[in-house]
Amino acid sequence: MTTTDAMTGGPSLPQKRELKTALPGPKSKAILDRKTGAVAAGVTYSVPVAVVAAGGGVVVDADGNSLIDLGSGIAVTTVGNANPRVAAAVAAQAAAFTHTCFMVSPYEGYVEVAEKLNELTPGSFDKRTALFNSGAEAVENAIKIARTYTKRTAVVAFDHAYHGRTNLTMALTAKAAPYKTGFGPFASDIYRVAGSYPFRDGLSGQEAAKRAISQMDKQIGGDQIAAVIIEPVQGEGGFIVPAEGFLETIVDWCRENGIVFIADEVQTGFARTGTMFASEQLGIEPDMITTAKGVAGGMPLSAVTGRTEIMDAPHGGGLGGTYGGNPVACAAALATIESYEEENLAARAQEIGQIIAERMEALADEDPRVGEVRGLGAMAAVEFVDPETGEPDAAIAKAAAASAIEQGVITLTCGTYGNVIRFLPPLSISDELLNEGLDIVAKAVRAL
Ligand SMILES: *Cc1c(COP(=O)(O)O)cnc(C)c1O
Repeated sequence: MTTTDAMTGGPSLPQKRELKTALPGPKSKAILDRKTGAVAAGVTYSVPVAVVAAGGGVVVDADGNSLIDLGSGIAVTTVGNANPRVAAAVAAQAAAFTHTCFMVSPYEGYVEVAEKLNELTPGSFDKRTALFNSGAEAVENAIKIARTYTKRTAVVAFDHAYHGRTNLTMALTAKAAPYKTGFGPFASDIYRVAGSYPFRDGLSGQEAAKRAISQMDKQIGGDQIAAVIIEPVQGEGGFIVPAEGFLETIVDWCRENGIVFIADEVQTGFARTGTMFASEQLGIEPDMITTAKGVAGGMPLSAVTGRTEIMDAPHGGGLGGTYGGNPVACAAALATIESYEEENLAARAQEIGQIIAERMEALADEDPRVGEVRGLGAMAAVEFVDPETGEPDAAIAKAAAASAIEQGVITLTCGTYGNVIRFLPPLSISDELLNEGLDIVAKAVRAL
């Protein structure tokens, strides 16, 4: 499939990699220096540029450098940056009204987004949706709702989990540095159990589920647990696809024990994995789904969607927030969802996933430091190891990503051990740019 103008942030942005300066160039450097003098040091960045435009498969900086985007601002601009359909919807809504607070005086856009999410998320049962601003906020609210519904308090998360940076979601997130170090005490009654990481644990889905269920049963008690929350494919933790049967077995056990099963699809949602939601491919119907990143083409919006009887449990006024479901963000979401459907972007995500897999399998065949190539659709990753011991090798991932960035390819790393390079290209990228970007990453690995 070729990229159409409707997807590429305007045909005016040349779809090519071009470096006019070393990174950062002088104009970017001046802005980054001001950043150091004005912005809190805890807020860091991985690509040393100051962006002025983006679209299709490129990000352009203040010095006119054009970089290939293999990150989508962490799986957000899945539909393409400054997607023309989204940009037009945002402009029209901003000109009409920018805010009323949905809890004060409601508007149709919010209702329409809720209707769309109820229809699109897996599960043929009756659903309701509530809108928020960030992924972490959606997760926090999902937990609030599950606790009121079950009248229980315990919540279970998994090894390698990432659910956000607020107090409750830091407690759910597994990795200490940099997300949690020094920021405690954390929310209570959160428990962590082992998940499924086939490359490292060697367990079948059934074996891994049995281990997790035994931990939940013996250490917490099924009748004490309000919610079990998991990313269907773990994102920050390393793009870990669970072994077949793992999720279904956990879901079945939750049903038997009256536990709300929450799929955190903040990163996996919205065509990214090759279906609208990863849960569809992995054979589960979650009681509740949290979404954010890909939902609104870059505008801040998040959602909790779930079974009506669960979603309606909190009392009136118990859910909400000043900005949740902002009208401009809702207009962006409706345009974004229209793009996913009309451009058949889930199929494009599968094509992109195949291209990444081919390129990276070829690298793996010749380089024993590639431990595993894995992923689902356009959410793909390479895990690096010491070939002798199988131990994680973070240095290669870090150095290869840094080298690719230097050559004008935005490449992100992830993983509990920091030894994973992840690919999250916008689905508006052309095959040519995608292949060029992947070749540069592969070359960077070989050169190390
Ligand atoms: C990014 C992410 C979050 C947090 O979203 P924010 O918008 O950064 O708060 C939560 N869960 C998952 C799976 C994520 O990838």
